[in-house]
Amino acid sequence: FLWALVILMLLSAVYSMLAGQFGSKKEITLSDLVAKINAGEVGEIKVVDSSLTVKLKNGEELNAEKELEAGLTETLRNYGVDPEKLKTVNIKVENKSGWNFLLGIVLPILGPVLLIAFFIWFSARQVQRGSMQAFSFGQSRARLINPDNKKEQVTFKDVAGVKEAKEELKEVVDFLKNPKKFLDIGAKIPKGVLLIGVPGSGKTLLARAVAGESSVPFFHMSASEFIEMFVGVGASRVRDTFRLAKKSAPAIIFIDELDAVGRIRGAGIGGGHDEREQTLNQLLVEMDGMETSDKVLVFSATNRPDVLDPALLRPGRFDRRVILDLPDINDREEILKIHTRNKPLVAEVNLRAVAERTPGFSGADLANLVNEAAILAARQDRKEVGQGDLLTSIEKVILGPERKSHILTTDEKKIAAYHEAGHALVTASRPKADPVHKVSIVSRGRAAGYTLKLPIEDRHLFSRSHFLTELAVAMGGYAAEELVFNELTTGASDDLKKATDLARSLVTRFGMSEKIGPIALGDKEELVFLGREIASARSYSEETARIIDQEVKKLLDNALKQAKEILTDRREKLDEIAKVLIEKETIEREEFEKMVKE
Ligand code: ADP
Ligand code: MG
Ligand code: ZN
Repeated sequence: FLWALVILMLLSAVYSMLAGQFGSKKEITLSDLVAKINAGEVGEIKVVDSSLTVKLKNGEELNAEKELEAGLTETLRNYGVDPEKLKTVNIKVENKSGWNFLLGIVLPILGPVLLIAFFIWFSARQVQRGSMQAFSFGQSRARLINPDNKKEQVTFKDVAGVKEAKEELKEVVDFLKNPKKFLDIGAKIPKGVLLIGVPGSGKTLLARAVAGESSVPFFHMSASEFIEMFVGVGASRVRDTFRLAKKSAPAIIFIDELDAVGRIRGAGIGGGHDEREQTLNQLLVEMDGMETSDKVLVFSATNRPDVLDPALLRPGRFDRRVILDLPDINDREEILKIHTRNKPLVAEVNLRAVAERTPGFSGADLANLVNEAAILAARQDRKEVGQGDLLTSIEKVILGPERKSHILTTDEKKIAAYHEAGHALVTASRPKADPVHKVSIVSRGRAAGYTLKLPIEDRHLFSRSHFLTELAVAMGGYAAEELVFNELTTGASDDLKKATDLARSLVTRFGMSEKIGPIALGDKEELVFLGREIASARSYSEETARIIDQEVKKLLDNALKQAKEILTDRREKLDEIAKVLIEKETIEREEFEKMVKE
C-alpha cells in the first residue's frame, strides 16, 4: 500500500511538471488578442471550450481564455474587434466531446481515488476469503461418490476373494436399498461396519465397491481429514458429516484409516491429543445418536484394530467386524486375472503358476506385480506381457529392484557366493524346509544376495520344527562364512537380527521353549508413538528375563551348530554351489535341485 502511495505521488509530480510545461505557452489577455487581430497578425484561432489557442502568422503560438458561456465572436466584438479583420482569421471551434471532457477533467482526480479504492477492495477481499475459510473450516470434507459416474465405478466384480466380507457387506447394502423388509420384521441393522485387514488387503477397494453397488449416496473420507491444527474442528467436521448423511439418507459414511482418530484415549507419549480425543468423542456421540430409522450406515477401515479405543468396538457402534484375509492361491489367481484384464498377455501365460509362487502376497502386492511386469515388457518394446515378466516381477516385489551396478570385488563375490550357498544348502538338507526357488548373488534392494524359498502352499499354522528349520537356514550364511574363511563379515547381520527376533518370539510368545513353558511374556501395554511401539513395559521379573535371554541364546547356538554340521558334512556340495554362483551369479530351482540331489 505504501508503495502504491509513493508511486502515486511520483506520478502526480510528473504530471504537474508536464502540465506546467504546457502552461508555459505565453498567455495573453483578450484585449491583447483583439489588438493583434486588428493588427492583422493572427492567422488562426482554435477554440476548445473556454481556452483559445492562437496561431500568429509568424508561426508563434499563444494562449488565451474567454468566458465559458459567451461565444467567441461576440466576446471579441465587445472588445472592439475590427469585423473586417476578423473575417480573415481562421476560427476553428472544437467542442470537447463528453468523454474527452470527462477524461480530461475527471481522470486526474478520479485516478488516484480509483486506485486507492481498488487497493481497499483487494485487501478486503483477502480478509474476507480468510474469514470464509474460517467459516467452512468445520464443514465436512467428505467426498460424495456419485452413483452415476460409471467410468470410475468399482463393483464387487472388481474385488476378488474376500468372500465372507463381500457377503457381509451385501447384506448391509441390501438393508439400505430395502429397509422396509428388515424394519417390518423388527431386525436391527448394525450401525457400524469395521473392515479389518493388513495394508493392501483391499479394504478401501471394497468400500468403493460398496459405493458402486449400493445406489445410495456414499460419503468417503479419511479419518485424518477430520484433524486440523485447531482444536474443535475435527468434532465439528464429524457433526457436519453425519448431518449431511442424515439429510440424504439412506446413505453410507465411509471413514478410511480409522485408527488416525480412533486410538485408545489417554494413551501415548506426551499426554493425550486433545483434538483427536474430541473428534473421537464426537464420533461416538454421533453413532450413539443414530437410529436404525435414520438409515445411515458407518463403514470404516483399519489395519490396527488392536489400538482402537474399546468404546468404538462395543455393540451399537462398530459392532460388525469384517476381516479381510490375505488371499489364498485361488484368490490370488482371481486377483491376477482382474489386474491383467486390460493388459495384453502372451497366450501361454499361466496365472496359476504365478499365484503358486506368491504366497503371502496381498492384493496390492499382486496389482503391483502385474504392473511391474507390464513396465518390464514395455521397456523391452514388446507388445505383450509374458510369463517371464511376471515371474521376474515377483522377485522385484519381494526383494526390491536388482542392483546390477552394485559390483562386488572378487573377494566379496566369493564371500557372498559361499554365504548364499550356505543358506541354500541348509535349506535343501532339511526335510521340512520350503523348496529353494532361486539362489543369487546379484544384489537386490538392500541385500547383497538372496536365497528365495517359497512355501508350497499357504500356511496358517506354524510348527516348532518349522521355526527351528528357519533358524538353521538363517544361520546357514554365517556358518558358511565361518567354516570356509574362518572369518566373519557384516553380511550376516540381517540374518542374525531376523533369527534373534524369531527366537525371542518362540520363547516369549509361542511357548516353544521347555524352560519358559506355555506363557506369553512381555505382552505389554503398548506405548504408541508415531505409529510404532517405542517401549514395552516389562511384565516379568529380572530372573525370567535372564532365562529368556538364555533360552534365546540356546536356540540360536543350536541353530548355528546344526547349520555347521550340515555344511561340514556336505562341504563339496557347498564348494560346488559357490563355484557355480561365482560363475553364473544366479541358480534357478531346477538346476539347484539337480545339484543337491545325492
Ligand atoms: P487397503 O486395504 O490398504 O485399503 P486397498 O484397498 O487400497 O488396500 O488396495 C490396494 C490395491 O490393491 C487396490 O487398488 C487393488 O488394485 C488391489 N487389490 C487389493 N485387494 C484386491 C482384491 N481382493 N481384488 C482385486 N484387487 C485388489
Ligand atoms: Mg486403504
Ligand atoms: Zn544371509
